[in-house]
Amino acid sequence: MKYVSTRGRAPVLDFADVLLAGLATDGGLYVPEELPSLPGATDGRRPYVDVAVETMWPFVDGAMAPGPFVAMVADAYAGFDHPDVCPLTEIDRRLWVQELWHGPTLAFKDVALQLVGRLFDAELTRRGERATIVVATSGDTGSAAIEACAGRSTLDIVVLHPAGRVSDVQRRLMTTVDAPNVHNVAVEGTFDDCQDLVKAMFADDAFRRDLRLSAMNSINWARVMAQLVYYRSATEAVGRCAFAVPTGNFGNVLAGWYARRMGVPVDRLLIGSNRNDIVCRWVATGALVSEEVVPTISPAMDVQVSSNVERVLFELLDRDGARVAELLGRARALGTVEAPCDPVFSAARLDDDETRSVIAEVHASTGHLVDPHTAVGIGAARRLRRGGDEPIVCLSTAHPAKFPDAVEAATGIRPPLPDRLADLAERPERFDLLPADLGVVQAHVRGCVGTSARGGASQHLP
Ligand SMILES: *Cc1c(COP(=O)(O)O)cnc(C)c1O
Repeated sequence: MKYVSTRGRAPVLDFADVLLAGLATDGGLYVPEELPSLPGATDGRRPYVDVAVETMWPFVDGAMAPGPFVAMVADAYAGFDHPDVCPLTEIDRRLWVQELWHGPTLAFKDVALQLVGRLFDAELTRRGERATIVVATSGDTGSAAIEACAGRSTLDIVVLHPAGRVSDVQRRLMTTVDAPNVHNVAVEGTFDDCQDLVKAMFADDAFRRDLRLSAMNSINWARVMAQLVYYRSATEAVGRCAFAVPTGNFGNVLAGWYARRMGVPVDRLLIGSNRNDIVCRWVATGALVSEEVVPTISPAMDVQVSSNVERVLFELLDRDGARVAELLGRARALGTVEAPCDPVFSAARLDDDETRSVIAEVHASTGHLVDPHTAVGIGAARRLRRGGDEPIVCLSTAHPAKFPDAVEAATGIRPPLPDRLADLAERPERFDLLPADLGVVQAHVRGCVGTSARGGASQHLP
């Protein structure tokens, strides 16, 4: 499989190069040159790993041998704490919840990143290279990326989080991972400061080359690819259906949109947003207008630049990269732009009170505790459902114990962590506290990479 950039001016690459490159050199995102067709449901339900291998193979074909790929996929999902990997539960008539949070960090990003970490490791090993993954996180991405990289000899990972501004559970899932190649930095600043530091490090050519910086963010095609699988496995279990998806950077729902274009029986895509509703407004009005980010109780969706929308625009503009580049240039210059949208999307927005009401209502009527992100998706499904029996699968993106305050406020019940993480609060933490200063952070990152290559560990702080 070959990959082209959504802006049409970057070299055509194969899977392995797209994996390591992340963003294309023309600023665009890589997409497959041709979408394969995914055959419809076979007889009965198949194990998740079988669906995963069959779904993803066309995308990696040519970059890997089949045997090692099958073994890698099996290994990526062996650590999930449910035999179905992404199990389905019917919470109402023909309304299902698909739990995507049985991986190590209790959120849906593990489904893709557990595989992507292994893909990076295999490709870097083949090339005899090392890379440094640098990530800014407001919570969930950092821990999922750390679990994807921890202990891999080809990778160092440096994660910047805003000091004092991530939840206890989120911070501990990052800082208690004990591996010499994992480096946590608490930045004295906001998430935006962390993100600016990461962007500045990537923009520094010499620094980027020296440390072979790389990213595992949600624009990486391999993440979208791994997310196709649960859409397909859900439709194999329940038949043709709509999906309700709590949305931030648009990576998760984008996979459903591609799955549909590849022949998976996805009917409609129902987008749930919190108050950061750029995608909702695009679906409703056909305009992309970015606004200030406001904090909510579903922080993983506090996003106002949904980068992955670019891939939809590329298809809707007949794969004309020049038109995509022109449209996004105007969006940047004016802060607003008319952009085509696909009628398979519907969208609903829930504020924090409405989200807490959904958590309370789902608990009262079904006994299930859902986290605030999942609740936004379920709320969107209920609001946008056509009739009482349209089949809908609501993607559940986080374990309720990852956001215990919101769940407790809505239900009076504080959800416990799974047994394997019960002692999380007692595990020793490891991170460095640094000012939001590019020079200081760059020097630190250089030091981290040098240390772990020699097998040492970074400084311990209380
Ligand atoms: C990242 C995340 C989302 C948003 O997913 P996108 O792919 O960015 O739309 C939703 N819920 C949780 C819990 C997340 O971690």
